Amino acid sequence: MKALRTKLIYYVVWFTSYSFLGIPRPAIMVRKNHGINRNRTDAQKERSKLAKEIRKMTLGNATAKQICREDRAAGLERMSTRMEQCQHCLRGQLPEEKFQRCSRCWDKLQRSVYYCSKDRQVAAYKPTHKAICGKVLDVKTATAAAASSVSPAKAPGGR
Ligand SMILES: [Zn+2]
Ligand SMILES: [Zn+2]
Repeated sequence: MKALRTKLIYYVVWFTSYSFLGIPRPAIMVRKNHGINRNRTDAQKERSKLAKEIRKMTLGNATAKQICREDRAAGLERMSTRMEQCQHCLRGQLPEEKFQRCSRCWDKLQRSVYYCSKDRQVAAYKPTHKAICGKVLDVKTATAAAASSVSPAKAPGGR
């Protein structure tokens, strides 16, 4: 139970930084345990640390806490439905479908970025995904991603 909680907090922090950057949130992996908590790579640890820093820098404490609460609720809801979400059109995977993940992101960082089709993946690449694809989200890539995203205000969660 504690492991699940830790994992959830990790996702919450990471998704929050995604929200800022106007990047759709990745799907929560529930069914498949990739051992993210027990054997996190250095890249994953760095990413999580950076996400925390970004949140502290850009939000007040109260706002950050509020977002954390909302994200946790949303995360729990998503976990209960257990589905992958297309990062372009944001629709969930249907039972008969099998969304494909961005292989570069997965191979390099074990970051799950799903798309409902090859077309959507191509469509999402240039305007949003290119800036972070396969890259550890350090300050430089985070800034690039923020600059390249067209309207961060319309990101999921609207923040
Ligand atoms: Zn889609
Ligand atoms: Zn990618």
